[in-house]
Amino acid sequence: MPIETAALNKLSFDRLDVRGKRVLVRVDFNVPVEGNQVSDATRIKESLPTIQKLIRDGAKVILMSHLGRPRKGPAPEFSLAPVRNKLADFLGQPVEFAADCIGPEAEAKAQGLKPGEVLLLENLRFHPEEEKNDLEFSKKLARLGEIYVNDAFGSAHRAHASTAGVAQFFEKRAGGYLMQKELKFLGQLLSDPERPFVAILGGAKVSDKIAVIENLLPKVDKLLIGGGMAYTFVAVQGKKVGASILEPERLELAGTLLQKGKDKIVLPEDSMVAPEVKPDITVQIYPSDEIPDGLKGLDIGPKAAENFGLILDKAKTVLWNGPVGVFEVSPFDAGTKKIGQKLAELTARGAITVVGGGDTAAACARFGLSDKMSHISTGGGAALEFLEGKTLPGVAALSDA
Ligand code: AMP
Repeated sequence: MPIETAALNKLSFDRLDVRGKRVLVRVDFNVPVEGNQVSDATRIKESLPTIQKLIRDGAKVILMSHLGRPRKGPAPEFSLAPVRNKLADFLGQPVEFAADCIGPEAEAKAQGLKPGEVLLLENLRFHPEEEKNDLEFSKKLARLGEIYVNDAFGSAHRAHASTAGVAQFFEKRAGGYLMQKELKFLGQLLSDPERPFVAILGGAKVSDKIAVIENLLPKVDKLLIGGGMAYTFVAVQGKKVGASILEPERLELAGTLLQKGKDKIVLPEDSMVAPEVKPDITVQIYPSDEIPDGLKGLDIGPKAAENFGLILDKAKTVLWNGPVGVFEVSPFDAGTKKIGQKLAELTARGAITVVGGGDTAAACARFGLSDKMSHISTGGGAALEFLEGKTLPGVAALSDA
């Protein structure tokens, strides 16, 4: 079965009888923490529907997550303790905490939970065995619960103990609401998008997006390419891209992709050009294939934005992955903003608009457009690998519906 169809067929946790059962839930609480405070609680909020449903249904909820990249075992700056406080605020009830994610304390606290109570385990990555998908460690985690739920789509591309290894010890391995929402939107793009289906890809490098382009080309009606990666596609046609970002070792491949997608790929006609990335520097507009030496294309130009907009106007389904310019620095954020606004307009008109995570999600937040898309993926790397057509270990580990 193709990955996208398989992904749509996973068991949902709300089909299970969880009353009085210990449910071990992998969540993504990998949030930024500054001075003992969670500085952005978006990821905690995204997990609430699943946690609240489990509480309402009388489950004993045991939550596990990683936070950051602790390299040398336990370290206070990577503790999930600040998350416990924030979560308790959101839930309006106390959250129990175990200072180690495995071992006697965690087991006793898990056993001691009453229906509707919540236990948060300390950072999984305090044990290097987590990232090694270690069997013994997986077994120890599995001892804590009777049912396994994974709601951490953002970690599903990793075969770690909490996303993969642990699952083999459970008969019921279900997806949470967030996991299902991600699989539904991303899966539909690849399996059965309403047409016309237009993808817009940007970002710095072609090399990061090759596999996505290859997987999407046969499925899309149009593929708009912006951002730094566009210049490798322009340069392979023997055109002048000045000092724009270029990947010489990808030129040949770009040529092959252009050939394969000649009726579908659309490159930016013009570019916003400057000698360097500097706030409020004077910019000039040049055709993207006539950029003078020493100057860099740092955003799509007005004609390109207009043309992309006309193509997007016809779309019933849009995937957007990667900013079309250096959106972090004004004035090179203009093109990305226009694309974001166009997608917001399309969403309001009833189109399905899906935004890949990472930088594109950050761009939407910067322009106040986060709630104007049909779906913004919470997983940068996971969304990309899904769109490449890869099987995600954290998804493969779930039971079929
Ligand atoms: P990615 O992580 O591949 O989606 O790339 C995102 C990054 O691409 C952002 O940090 C942008 O600043 C950068 N980017 C977008 N357009 C350009 C460009 N024309 N030249 C250089 N970097 C760009």
